[in-house]
Amino acid sequence: MHRVRAVASAPRIVLLPGDGIGPEIVAAARRLLEALGEFEFDERLMGGCSIDAHSVALTDEVLDLCRQADAVLLGAVGGPKWDTTDPDAPRPEQGLLGLRKGMGLYANLRPVRPSPALVGASPLREERIAGTDLLVVRELTGGIYFGDSGRDGDVAHDTCEYSVAEIERISRAGFEAARRRAGGSGGHVTSVDKANVLETSRLWREVVGRVAGEYPDVELDHLLVDNAAMQLVSRPAEFDVIVTENLFGDILSDESAMLTGSLGMLPSASLGEAGAPGLFEPVHGSAPDIAGRGVANPLATFLSAAMLLRHGLGRPSEAERIEAAVDAVLERGLRTPDLAATGETPVGTDAMTDAVLFEL
Ligand code: NAD
Repeated sequence: MHRVRAVASAPRIVLLPGDGIGPEIVAAARRLLEALGEFEFDERLMGGCSIDAHSVALTDEVLDLCRQADAVLLGAVGGPKWDTTDPDAPRPEQGLLGLRKGMGLYANLRPVRPSPALVGASPLREERIAGTDLLVVRELTGGIYFGDSGRDGDVAHDTCEYSVAEIERISRAGFEAARRRAGGSGGHVTSVDKANVLETSRLWREVVGRVAGEYPDVELDHLLVDNAAMQLVSRPAEFDVIVTENLFGDILSDESAMLTGSLGMLPSASLGEAGAPGLFEPVHGSAPDIAGRGVANPLATFLSAAMLLRHGLGRPSEAERIEAAVDAVLERGLRTPDLAATGETPVGTDAMTDAVLFEL
């Protein structure tokens, strides 16, 4: 399976800046992409700003445009203005869920690759974290979050369900990602489950093992989720691609994110069927506490743009140029306020963007 779209003319990218710092970091990423090549941008409202304008977080028109685009780059949505306890009031996150569902996004990819200049920010000792470069591939649309749930008196239940087809497609997403990271062939997939206890996990292990037959060049091993949680903090540098189901992936991807210690540095991608556009966004939120002050760290969005180029448009060499430029500015000592240590003079969003553009 090849998931990159065949893109003939200038790729069409829908930009969804969203709320809070979203517009600042997406504008910076647009400058970066414009410096790399020809793109056709279509900027639209989604999240709280769309609620203000259209009373819904995601309009059908914007969803259709996203479906027809080559890729979608999102800033972040939400903020105190739209926090509500009224269950009938529209909420910004409904836009995110609507996009995931409407675009058929079932694989969430979160790379964890602490920049060498920032290993000191990790809660782990430097010798443990150094060299870490892993990718968590989480199944996004099945499992216990979507199974039957309910209450009967003082008993509650949530049901975990997975079908062979759901496991096959997320396994392939993992094997494909391992190959891409290895430059076209090879790589290592660790499948995480709880096969000693759960029937869904036994099916998971069986199916992943069978799909592995289609990828003889990729190494596969299996880890129980409790063991995986421990190994992630004791030997993170030994992982390549981790593939896992929704609930385990939710937890392990946040654990992996904390390995870097820098929320403003983490990109993500959500992918659907082969040939369909993906959604690329930083892991952090809309940071309303610093919105509009020109101090937001744009690097997670730049690294999300790199994922867009690699996974969305099949342009890995440009993705590598962005990643190398980000490493280089950090090596030179530039820090936005969220990254600056005591005594370091921070720079704002524009200066950080100028520096990355210069390194490109
Ligand atoms: P947050 O990630 O927005 O902020 C947490 C802390 O990190 C804040 O102090 C913030 O200033 C800082 N921070 C985050 N990104 C930064 C950046 N790029 N540069 C510098 N500092 C940065 O999380 P939160 O405060 O829990 O949530 C704020 C809003 O964002 C809420 O409305 C929440 O629902 C929403 N949210 C949206 C998404 C999304 O759109 N995918 C994800 C998480 C949270």
